[in-house]
Amino acid sequence: MYTSERKWTDTTMTETTGAHMDRGAPGAASGAWLKGALLGIASALRPDRGPTVVREWIDSVRLLDPEPVGFRSLFLLGMSWDGRPPPSKFGETLTAFSGAGWETTPHVTDQDGESWATARREEFEVKVYEGSRSGLVTLTGWTPVVYPELLLAQPPFTRSTAGGVLCYDCHGWGICLTCEGRPYERRYKRCWCIANNAGPGRCVECAGRGLLSPENVPWWRPQHVLRGADMECATPEAEHDSTLSALAEVAQRACACGEFRCSWRNVLDEEGDRLLSRFVGACQGCDVQRAHTFTLARP
Ligand SMILES: [Zn+2]
Ligand SMILES: [Zn+2]
Ligand SMILES: [Zn+2]
Repeated sequence: MYTSERKWTDTTMTETTGAHMDRGAPGAASGAWLKGALLGIASALRPDRGPTVVREWIDSVRLLDPEPVGFRSLFLLGMSWDGRPPPSKFGETLTAFSGAGWETTPHVTDQDGESWATARREEFEVKVYEGSRSGLVTLTGWTPVVYPELLLAQPPFTRSTAGGVLCYDCHGWGICLTCEGRPYERRYKRCWCIANNAGPGRCVECAGRGLLSPENVPWWRPQHVLRGADMECATPEAEHDSTLSALAEVAQRACACGEFRCSWRNVLDEEGDRLLSRFVGACQGCDVQRAHTFTLARP
């Protein structure tokens, strides 16, 4: 898999902004298609006050070298509805995806009133989320990974799509990257991993999962609560007109570790005469809980 000479030197392409996702960049065509598809579905759902593209970014994929070999485009769109309480638009959103040719899979709706679903179309995937009583629906969509030079399979996860922190050894691939999971052959140098004893070639660190989990990393916290003691202590920050504009602010912030990728969840709370929009999520880089609370302007 390393045989072709890698010439990817476009170091101006950063992961933190979509500013360089121009026509010449790898995956630009699939990114443009996905963004258009998401905007089309979201605009039809919210014709009077359109959706907001909250953030667009790129996940890079690498093997052993720090230099990336592949790229995936991601888009976070938000829609919001008013009302006390606001209507749930989750079912309607899934119907809109189905109508546009996507295959939808609803997941659990929890007791706090949050809902999740996945929509897939070919190699494109969208995570649909509705917050708790906040009238906020978010769509996080991603393209398949595009490789400018190599012919590689899709990795199980990239940083934004993993439900946890990527394995530091295999970067989410789940295979030993030193021998790329190949059993020992005479022409290759022998690797220390199990694949070189004709094993499955799994990454030893994560047992092939591509992710770090509570079993192999004790400090990993599988769930961060949306409500309760952890959230209550989050002091309200700036006032926003809507949860959607608060989301736009939160999505630009980075964790203390420097990572901005985070699957934000949202709940609307009333505290005295104040409306509070609370965001909580697990950092995709270090898995620490991130929480922000904003005061919303009373209508
Ligand atoms: Zn691993
Ligand atoms: Zn190996
Ligand atoms: Zn972090």
